[in-house]
Amino acid sequence: MESMKSQQVSSIYLPMNKNKNLSQIGMLKNPIAQSLIQSVGRMFYLQRCGVSLNANLAGEFSHPACHTAPARVFRTDTFLHISGGWHDAGDYGRYVVPACKAVADLLLAFRATPEAFGDDWNIPESGNGVADVLDEVRFELEWLLRMQRDDGGVYHKITCAYFPDMIAPQQETADQFVFPVSTAATGDFSAVMAMAYPLYESIDRTFAKRCLRASVNAYEFLMHSKPLPFHNPSGVVTGEYGDENDSDERYFAACALYQATGQPNYLSDASMLYRSGRSADFGWADVGGYGNAVLYFGGRVCEDDILVGRIRADLITTAEHLCEKSENSPFGISIDEFLWGSNMYLLNNAMTLLMANDAQANERYVSAARAHLAYILGNNPLGVNFVTGADETSPKHPHHRPSAAAGRAMPGMLVGGPDQYLHDLAAKTLLAGKPDSERYLDSVESYSTNEVAIYWNSVLLYVLSRLNKLDS
Ligand SMILES: [Zn+2]
Repeated sequence: MESMKSQQVSSIYLPMNKNKNLSQIGMLKNPIAQSLIQSVGRMFYLQRCGVSLNANLAGEFSHPACHTAPARVFRTDTFLHISGGWHDAGDYGRYVVPACKAVADLLLAFRATPEAFGDDWNIPESGNGVADVLDEVRFELEWLLRMQRDDGGVYHKITCAYFPDMIAPQQETADQFVFPVSTAATGDFSAVMAMAYPLYESIDRTFAKRCLRASVNAYEFLMHSKPLPFHNPSGVVTGEYGDENDSDERYFAACALYQATGQPNYLSDASMLYRSGRSADFGWADVGGYGNAVLYFGGRVCEDDILVGRIRADLITTAEHLCEKSENSPFGISIDEFLWGSNMYLLNNAMTLLMANDAQANERYVSAARAHLAYILGNNPLGVNFVTGADETSPKHPHHRPSAAAGRAMPGMLVGGPDQYLHDLAAKTLLAGKPDSERYLDSVESYSTNEVAIYWNSVLLYVLSRLNKLDS
């Protein structure tokens, strides 16, 4: 499954010798790093829903348009046509909350390092004069716009009631449902639509304005709505992505709308929500870190010096803490607990380190971020490159239906990595007794260690693009 090009990638990136000085690890050859960025970016194209993927671009992952039937608004007689967007992960669900994490990562990456993103990803829009990452994100934004109700609220997800067998996307023909509005989805939606506005303004002003209007409508809905957490109704087993606390989503939206418009009411809302306590994470549930990043690194100078000072101080304090952990780890990483999706937590920390370096340049932060990426690409106790198709050590059997249906791992996908808590039967059966950091299984059965997700690839793309620039 490995192409010649991707084998070159790994040999450049990877320090397979665990004793190698981690500070020496980096993106040594820009063009080769670029090919990994392209492969990881193309995963989003290959996850597109509702459109046909042609064989000339998608190879064995080509398929006719999938999930095009109208979907029933849950427990109503209303049907909606909501096509488009990316399949979330190893399944074919489309979930607003994690989708917004993915979009936020990609827009932050483009904003920070536009030169890392070409118009040559070999997607349908390649060569149109717009960076392909923005074309790809627009595909998701247009789906998100369809998920908004007229009153501004945003439906939480569109999925079937249960996960299908390991079939190709067009073969999932069970009834689809649109699930109720949640305030987490609405807040995240408002935020990423506001983030999109300045980035698309010079590309397509009409589209950019549509994003901003949708963002404002979502924000107005939030202002008048109590928290509406989402819970899977009885009989529905697809991803829940539930979140009991929506204050961080409201904060993220306020920060992004202030950046997009300069209107002081959004900044005062952001300041109030910051004081009332929000997380500084980059998770799908805890999005306070995105609010901080948008406010601090957006194009508009924030007029609240105290808030900016606090964000900066928090970022530096967190980065120092992560560096200490990284420097005391044999593999240079900052996590000591391997949760489901541990590779995402690790890369979220690398993103924090790189943002801290932007706020206050410090080679120590960059070195730690490099070590995190090196871990992902093979400098780990298992010697596995956690990106499919990257080299001979890459996962070959990801928990990913298109790959299982095609009989080959779709390239460019980050798998979840070790999960010390053995959340699936295969892991329980085969990994009990292994050290926490080795509780990973390259098996299609191991959804808790070997699944993939758009919002894991997105943060990988952030880290790859930033380090590529810093090391060039
Ligand atoms: Zn689909």
